[in-house]
Amino acid sequence: MSAVVVILFGSPGSGKGTQAKLLKRCLSGPHVSTGDMLRAHISLHDEIGAQSEGLIKSGKLVPDELVNRLVEERLARPDAKQHGAILDGYPRTQNQAAVLLELLKTGGYRAVVVHLVVDYERIVARLGGRRQCPVCGTLYSLTTNPPRVPGHCDREGAVLVTREDDRESVIRERLAEYDRQTVPVLNFFRDAAVPRIDVEAGDAAPEEIVERICGSLEQEGLIAPAKKSLVK
Ligand SMILES: [Zn+2]
Repeated sequence: MSAVVVILFGSPGSGKGTQAKLLKRCLSGPHVSTGDMLRAHISLHDEIGAQSEGLIKSGKLVPDELVNRLVEERLARPDAKQHGAILDGYPRTQNQAAVLLELLKTGGYRAVVVHLVVDYERIVARLGGRRQCPVCGTLYSLTTNPPRVPGHCDREGAVLVTREDDRESVIRERLAEYDRQTVPVLNFFRDAAVPRIDVEAGDAAPEEIVERICGSLEQEGLIAPAKKSLVK
């Protein structure tokens, strides 16, 4: 069976990073996160790190060529060549998607898009229900772990606040931005006839969601059924 490259998509609040790691359960390929790779280069203070740090700090996007090069080099390593990979945070643009598709064809990989689907209202409710103590930093959730006295920290009674990132308008804007960025990329893969698995990811524990993804990959014939039971 040729190596499978999973291209993982999921909105903010979908648990994409967690799933990317849990997918080791049924996939042997490495987790390839462009964000992690860029951070590694930045902490190494190498040429790529210096170039991307400046851009990231000033709120700019790292150029496609640089990100494409990182992914190309990563996929050329023996572990990915043999087992494929789980791509997390890449591709973000149609240009990157086109480069990736060419790379996968040349390398003889099989590609599959895995899209974590979550009801946005659920994400807004969950993230929007977070409160933080400005004094000690403790985080609360109005739904899963509310403070004993509403609106006040359990420790010293300080008035809890909503962090800027957790404000409903900010969350909605991040979700809208995700759609603007991702829909064209998903459409590109659809037009290129890359198979896609949509997985409901908002209504269960991460452990159960990864089972759904692995089950779908198996159904699509992308992973061998035996592989899963061996790992379990
Ligand atoms: Zn406190």
